[in-house]
Amino acid sequence: MIPLNNQPKTLIDPMGRSITYLRVSLTAKCNLRCSYCYGTGKDNSISSDHLSTTDVIRLIEVFASLGINKIRFTGGEPLMRRDIVDLVRRTAKMEGINQIGLTTNGLVLEPLLPSLIEAGLNCLNISLDTLKRETFRQITGSDGFDRVYSAIISAEECGTFKRVKVNTVVMRGINDEEVRQFTLWALERRIDLRFIEFMPTQQSGWDKSRLVNEDMIKDLIGLDLEPVKGNDNSPGPASSYTLPGAPGRISFISTISHNFCGRCNRLRLTSTGQLVGCLFLNQPADLKKMLAEVDDIKDIAEQIRDIVARPGFRRPPQELPVIGFNPFMRKVGG
Ligand code: SAM
Repeated sequence: MIPLNNQPKTLIDPMGRSITYLRVSLTAKCNLRCSYCYGTGKDNSISSDHLSTTDVIRLIEVFASLGINKIRFTGGEPLMRRDIVDLVRRTAKMEGINQIGLTTNGLVLEPLLPSLIEAGLNCLNISLDTLKRETFRQITGSDGFDRVYSAIISAEECGTFKRVKVNTVVMRGINDEEVRQFTLWALERRIDLRFIEFMPTQQSGWDKSRLVNEDMIKDLIGLDLEPVKGNDNSPGPASSYTLPGAPGRISFISTISHNFCGRCNRLRLTSTGQLVGCLFLNQPADLKKMLAEVDDIKDIAEQIRDIVARPGFRRPPQELPVIGFNPFMRKVGG
């Protein structure tokens, strides 16, 4: 661990938001072809120039020294990296890091699950947009529904995770008819089902008519869900609900209809080493170059502090979230 003597151990942006969470995209590659994420246009080129294991670990160490306590590995598909278990293990040993999460499409998760848990994984998000095999094939271009479903059930039953989070992007005419059934399925399990509003990311084929917003989703659910209060509700963008006595939760990540920039506590690191301060701003800072040029890890930490303090690196809280720049999800790391 890097001692950063005389430094306050917190990263605070100019708007006073304290940053404690880093999402690390390990690759822009994916083994599914979800139309709303992978892209349907021509610019599907991705750089294979991703950060090495050593560089990922070095950067996470720097961020841990700056007060980051939660790391999430994402992508692209993070399980396409052969070093994923090693990365989790080494991150788990770092002082200050107490939450290590993974966001995965679940396709190759099940056989890796015991090693990931043993290495220290303690938060798990699996993306699944439908409970129907055929719809899964239409959305993802893969016949992998059974594998993903089985991984979710194994993860739930193993008992390691308080609740397994299932990410579901709701799209009109594609899976909106399943919302109620999906809700009932999740409520009876130790699952936190997170309905995500479809965002206008690059090449996602987004158009407003496909958007099913939080209020519409609540109407489709048609249950008297109660808000989850207190410590059980996370500080992130999700607002969570349940039914009394049900083990499961239903959450909403409503990037289009709600503004939660005011409580944004996160930064993103792309697989090529770009630090991103806001999903909807295109002002990345090149940390890979910095790693190559700066030896002293304390200097890297200091430069990251300066980047976070830059005007325009993080979106001010009062602005509506989705305007202007549309991110390329699997490059930035969803
Ligand atoms: N491959 C992993 C997975 O499938 O979870 C991690 C990367 S994926 C980009 C992370 C999350 O972003 C997924 O839950 C996915 O549904 C979400 N996502 C991708 N494109 C989106 C969009 N246009 N609107 C909302 N969510 C999106």
